[in-house]
Amino acid sequence: MNVVLFGPPGAGKGTQAKELSKHYGIPHISTGDILRANVSKGTDLGKKAAEYMNKGELVPDDVLIGIIKNRLAEPDCKAGFLLDGYPRTIPQADALSGILNDINMPLEVVLNITVPDEELVTRLSGRYSCKCGESYHIKFNPPKKAGICNVCGGELYQRDDDKEDVIRQRLVSYKKNTQPLIDYYEEKGILVNIDGTGGIDEVFGQIINVLDQYK
Ligand code: AMP
Repeated sequence: MNVVLFGPPGAGKGTQAKELSKHYGIPHISTGDILRANVSKGTDLGKKAAEYMNKGELVPDDVLIGIIKNRLAEPDCKAGFLLDGYPRTIPQADALSGILNDINMPLEVVLNITVPDEELVTRLSGRYSCKCGESYHIKFNPPKKAGICNVCGGELYQRDDDKEDVIRQRLVSYKKNTQPLIDYYEEKGILVNIDGTGGIDEVFGQIINVLDQYK
């Protein structure tokens, strides 16, 4: 099952992808997570990416295309993958289609999770993350103990790109760069819209209804 998950920052892509990855036994590939891991390790790639990420801008296409090509060549992608956060631009989509043609694994479905902007700002500005990968929301999904991760006991922090001014910039950037991709995949006839305003389980149910057709 070869799937791309679309949606603006805060639409719940990450949360859904994690559950879907468990449910179908295919890897969840988040370019945001890969970039953040490089930023925290202080790699050359991470240093370059941080300049863009901290401003809410997209990291250049050549960097992302290299990352995704290497990742899709790993053996755990043989049975399929869930791409989260990639592609964000037409050149990235074209590159993906070339990479997938070469390995004979065409993209089967693109899920587009939709949520209104104001709800996205509320969701993201209340989000707190842990270094272990868990994330919480002060209102919708608070940790048991304020500021502490339920899973590993680590201290929660607010991502630099989850501050309100950066969020608004990310939404502008998302629309400008990524909206054309929705048209691109719609033209290819593989786009499916998902209403992301419901609860996590409700949205998950809608997605499973679609993806079960590709098992
Ligand atoms: P995300 O966690 O997907 O919201 O990504 C966080 C940040 O990483 C984005 O705001 C971008 O700066 C960068 N990023 C992640 N994926 C991509 C991509 N496919 N193309 C360009 N930049 C990306």
